[in-house]
Order: sequence, then structure tokens, then C-alpha cells
Amino acid sequence: MSTHREKLVLPGGADKLLLHSCCAPCSGELMEAFVESGIDYTVFFYNPNIHPQKEYLLRKDENIRFAEKHGVPFIDADYDTDNWFARAKGMENEPERGIRCTMCFDMRFERTALYAHEHGFRVMTSSLGISRWKNMGQINDSGHRAVAPYDDVAYWDYNWRKGGGSSRMIEISKRERFYQQEYCGCVYSLRDTNRHRKAQGRDRIQLGVQFYGDDAEGKAGA
Ligand code: SF4
Repeated sequence: MSTHREKLVLPGGADKLLLHSCCAPCSGELMEAFVESGIDYTVFFYNPNIHPQKEYLLRKDENIRFAEKHGVPFIDADYDTDNWFARAKGMENEPERGIRCTMCFDMRFERTALYAHEHGFRVMTSSLGISRWKNMGQINDSGHRAVAPYDDVAYWDYNWRKGGGSSRMIEISKRERFYQQEYCGCVYSLRDTNRHRKAQGRDRIQLGVQFYGDDAEGKAGA
């Protein structure tokens, strides 16, 4: 295992944490870090962006499997795709890291912050920022925006990539042979990734066939 983790302490003396998880590969390092630091946490899976449902279930089930392994509570939130598509209207052709992604992070974090507020979690964070495919500043801005309406919830913008976090994320994913997604998550990212692959003379993405530890490179981070 890469470099030892530093002992984590929840900000503001909070006693428990709500973790918005996008998928098992991205949240694996965070989940093991919380266990190691003795942090009481709950996984909140709210990702109505993931399309199609087959892919959504693959990612969710993998995350449930890992949460069960650690005896961690897992909140299986709504798959309200209609709301996601309504908010994405007019942004269908935006590039990754653009305004559609800001909307997507906002939507997922707003629901997470509401749950935190209603269930006594004073801190929330997300696995989204550990992926090298993502803009961490964009994610942190969404996180802080989501908790702004609540006096009793803070967003923890810890840099999960540092101190070997990125390497451990891959190591854990390979050890667990996690399902390896090959696109960010929404139907537009699936379309754009397939276009890119076609331009490179590669085959279209096949759902459910790639696992960490296999050779080809996937794309963690929904
Ligand atoms: S590319 Fe990813 S982050 Fe951006 S809108 Fe699609 S699923 Fe959300």
C-alpha cells in the first residue's frame, strides 16, 4: 500500500460524517481512510446522472458490496432521472468540466446536504474530487454552495488525492476487483466517450465487462 495515511479528524468537532459517493473505485480510499481513523460515517448514494440504469445498478451494487464489507450504513437515495434530465436541458452538448457538470455536482450535493441537515450530520464530503478526470475546484465550489442554506452542515473540502490517496485508490480498486466504468456517467458523457473512441479506431463501450486489474484503462469518477 502506498504511503501511510494521516489520521483524519472531522472538522468542527463533528461526531459523524455523510459521504456522498459516486462509485466504489472513487470512494474506496475515502472509506478505508475513515475506518482507519475511527470516523463514524454513512455512505449516501445519490447519482441520478448515471445512464443507463444497467450501468447505474452496476456502480451502485459495487458500492453496496464494499460498504457491507466494512459494516458501513448505505443510504440508497432516489434515481430521479427525470429531474436530472430537466436540469440538463440545453446543456446536452457542453463539454466535461463545463456548466452541465457544475449542475450535476450541484444537484447531487444539494440532496446530500438536505439529508445531512435532516439527519444530524454536521459534515458532508464527496468522493468525486479524488478522480483525476475531475476539476477539484469545481466540485468544492458545488459542495460549499450546497451547504450554504444550512447553518448546521459544513462541506469538508479535503484533498483526497494528496499523501498517496490517488495511488491507494487504484490499489484498492485492483485488490477489490471493482467494476471499472469507462465514462463519467451521463448519457452525454457516454456519447462523447464513444465518439472519441471511434475517432481513435476503438470499439464502443460495453457495459459491465471491465474490472480493475484487467489491462485496459477505464475512467473512474461519475
Ligand atoms: S459528464 Fe459526468 S459530471 Fe458531467 S454532467 Fe455528465 S455525469 Fe455529470
